[in-house]
Amino acid sequence: MSEKGLFQKIIDGEIPAERVYEDDDFVAFKDVAPKAPVHLLVVPKTFSPRLDEMLDAQGPADVGALLEAAIKTARANGLHDYRLVINVGPGAGQEVFHTHVHIMAGWEEAAPLG
Ligand code: 5GP
Repeated sequence: MSEKGLFQKIIDGEIPAERVYEDDDFVAFKDVAPKAPVHLLVVPKTFSPRLDEMLDAQGPADVGALLEAAIKTARANGLHDYRLVINVGPGAGQEVFHTHVHIMAGWEEAAPLG
């Protein structure tokens, strides 16, 4: 049995995080080192290490449900315009190997465009 990962510990409440959304299948919380004025992470409670392995092991409905959870998280936090990012693999910048979606937003308040 492999050791429990960082995001699994957050899901289980063993490591604190500022939760911003939760349902039966997903938890969302603030990124500890935000790269945008608003930076949230949406994490499935069912473990997979990365998005492509999630597709293979769980199928496209679960990949769709992850995007749905990201949209619900954005709405629940009053976000209308935002960027969704999924890093798939270390060469793309993935550092935590528990599939997750980044929600990044809030630039228009920090520095209005135009
Ligand atoms: P990745 O690079 O794997 O796509 O994204 C991992 C994200 O997790 C990074 O943006 C990083 O700042 C965030 N992160 C790493 N450790 C923690 C932690 O202990 N708590 C929270 N809330 N976020 C974390």
